[in-house]
Amino acid sequence: MITLTLYLVASVLIILALRGLSSPVSSRQGNYFGMIGMAVAVLTTLLINHSYVYLLISISILFGASIGLVVAKKVEMTKMPELVALMHSFVGLAAMLIAFASIFNFDNEHSTVQRVELFLGSFIGAITFTASLVAFGKLSGKFASKTIVFRGQHVLNLILFISMVFFGATYFINESTTAFLLMNVFALVLGITLIVPIGGADMPVVVSMLNSYSGWAAAGIGFTLNNSVLIIAGACVGSSGAILSYIMCKSMNRSIISVLLGGFGSEANEAQHSDSDKNHKTGSPTDVAYLMTSSESIIIIPGYGLAVARAQHALQELTNKLVDMGIKVRYAIHPVAGRMPGHMNVLLAEADVPYDQVFEMDDINNDFTETDLVFVIGANDVVNPAAKIPGSSIYGMPILEAQKAKTIIVNKRTMGVGYAGLDNDLFYDNKTMMLLGDAKESVEELIKAVDDL
Ligand code: NDP
Repeated sequence: MITLTLYLVASVLIILALRGLSSPVSSRQGNYFGMIGMAVAVLTTLLINHSYVYLLISISILFGASIGLVVAKKVEMTKMPELVALMHSFVGLAAMLIAFASIFNFDNEHSTVQRVELFLGSFIGAITFTASLVAFGKLSGKFASKTIVFRGQHVLNLILFISMVFFGATYFINESTTAFLLMNVFALVLGITLIVPIGGADMPVVVSMLNSYSGWAAAGIGFTLNNSVLIIAGACVGSSGAILSYIMCKSMNRSIISVLLGGFGSEANEAQHSDSDKNHKTGSPTDVAYLMTSSESIIIIPGYGLAVARAQHALQELTNKLVDMGIKVRYAIHPVAGRMPGHMNVLLAEADVPYDQVFEMDDINNDFTETDLVFVIGANDVVNPAAKIPGSSIYGMPILEAQKAKTIIVNKRTMGVGYAGLDNDLFYDNKTMMLLGDAKESVEELIKAVDDL
């Protein structure tokens, strides 16, 4: 009874954590709920175990927690998405290994329902494991982030899927361990072939989808272990990940079915690279400071480069100066700017940017026509008009309509491509002036230039 009550407390705390994480204002509190909930769940699980496993569990916790602590302390904000993808792969692997332990413990009798749970938990775990490893490789730059397509890709996926289900069904009927092993081999390969074709710009949807898969894998294994809190926490992660995937699909204008089948982006062209024949204008910090201070309204579009340069504090200092001069300054946030959902919101919150200066894409996209100046800082794909050109790998993705403003300033280090590997015509627009350089250094020079005017 006490165990059930404690598990209930842990589950409620985990649900409250998810609720807290739905808004930047309550996210810190949400994190605390999550941490306490997990601590209660782990301690309760320890309490119900036999004493002889304590040593084993303690060693594992110590080992895992030490690695986790070192990695979490060292990881940079820009590397979080790849770390999250790696974590998802661990959840998938754990689900698969627990299913194996249960199958190969020949003292265990598995009822019909348990065989279905093992089948589901294990194959979702196996797909999550390899798919997350490929996502980790793409996000960390170890594999090319571009779309990789080959002839017969969808047929191959279908064959792998049917084989996986066939061997899963064979295991279900006669409890053949060989069939169970083969089912997992096909699931592992399917995890790779599902993610390989997905191009860079579509990776945010993949990350949230793998988040969902890892939750369902954990819930499936919760049934195997007969552990209610694992089922509840897994289901919470699975369903919230699925909702996030749906929201991301909507904001990226992609079909959720296509995502589930690993098909989207597969019609894409090869990545394009900078066209040296095109002309672009460059300006100095003084030129840009002059243009900014002569404007009445400015929209700032931050992107991944802002995070790399950690320029958010300097940027807000510049914003404050402009606001003090009576200029209306707002930030426009694209849902997939940066490398993880909410990346830009987190960075701006770190720099104490007031929430009423920050606007989501749909709330500000109609205002660009009336805006004097747009300052694109470290962003590329999220303002790339190629999204309107059929055949482009980002075709259909909504963008921030920077090209509609009267003047456009783009700050980045080179004329190079963004994460999707596409050249950006905005940089060659007649209204655009490039301020080439590292985002933080450029903004610091801009602040000086504004002061000197
Ligand atoms: P992009 O990755 O498209 O472009 C970022 C730009 O920043 C680059 O072109 C780079 O150009 C520039 N940059 C890099 N370092 C610096 C620096 N120190 N100072 C100034 N500029 C710098 O970023 P966006 O935010 O526009 O788009 C995000 C992309 O990432 C999308 O394709 C999205 O789909 C994808 N993605 C998003 C995820 C999410 O959940 N948000 C997850 C995974 C992928 P240069 O090298 O010339 O300086």
